[in-house]
Amino acid sequence: MTKSERKRGNKKSKDQQRFTSDTSKSRKFKEPSKSSSFLDKMRARLSGGHFRMINEKLYTCTGKEALNYFQEEPSLFDLYHAGYKMQMSNWPEQPVNVIIGWLKKKSPSLVIADFGCGDALIAKSVENKVYSLDLVSNDPNIIACDMSNTSLVSSSVDVAVFCLSLMGTNYQSYIEEANRVLKSGGWLLIAEVKSRFDPNTGGADPEKFSNAISELGFKFVKKDFSNKMFILFYFTKKFPYVCRISKILKGKKLNGLRLNLVCISVVDTKRAFFLVDH
Ligand code: SAH
Repeated sequence: MTKSERKRGNKKSKDQQRFTSDTSKSRKFKEPSKSSSFLDKMRARLSGGHFRMINEKLYTCTGKEALNYFQEEPSLFDLYHAGYKMQMSNWPEQPVNVIIGWLKKKSPSLVIADFGCGDALIAKSVENKVYSLDLVSNDPNIIACDMSNTSLVSSSVDVAVFCLSLMGTNYQSYIEEANRVLKSGGWLLIAEVKSRFDPNTGGADPEKFSNAISELGFKFVKKDFSNKMFILFYFTKKFPYVCRISKILKGKKLNGLRLNLVCISVVDTKRAFFLVDH
């Protein structure tokens, strides 16, 4: 994303627009394959229909609108999640489980923020301190909020997770919020449906998507294409740049004032501390 695109506010780059607009089509979830009776089939069809309707809504409105939508009718959230679970049961591997496996190999002292946590499976599966965030809270451990504007303290989190939750037309602001709450060097994990990156259906180019995220203050680490249904991106939050005065060159006197030339070098925080120590 270029500076001028950022200045234009909501106007996004072509690829980001595709990433956003393609989504309603691209989350093509299948109906459950086996139902025990006619009634079960009818129920599944109805709940699948509701799920798709709400899913479409979440992809075509802002996080704030989504929050109002569920606040006005909380039962829609339960409907959405019942449908979501049913659809996900068809996936050979669930991205949240891959993320849990990754987290379990890391230190349990890492603080995690699970953006769009759903049933808060991460918090239930790891020893770490986890902030579980979603639009509706049916559990005292889930913080109800629009994840573009959380109550988390700046630079307080080691890992930010977006597992199939980058919905909403303002998803860029969710990444910006993750950047705010993450410590420098902290991890950002994004799992997204593979079809959102399918060039045959107008999906985003994964490379350009990574670049757009990097422009928001992250360093791309790796992407995992090995799963059938989803892609997993790994980033770390960049260290802030610090300016250091490296040299002061004495200049000429002008109207009684001496003008000096100051040489400034840009260093990252880690290196700045190193220099101060020496
Ligand atoms: N991460 C969970 C659930 C994914 S479903 C899992 O992998 O199982 C996507 C979730 O993101 C939904 O629960 C939805 O309510 C949440 N979500 C979408 N937009 C949101 C927003 N603006 N703020 C908070 N949660 C949001």
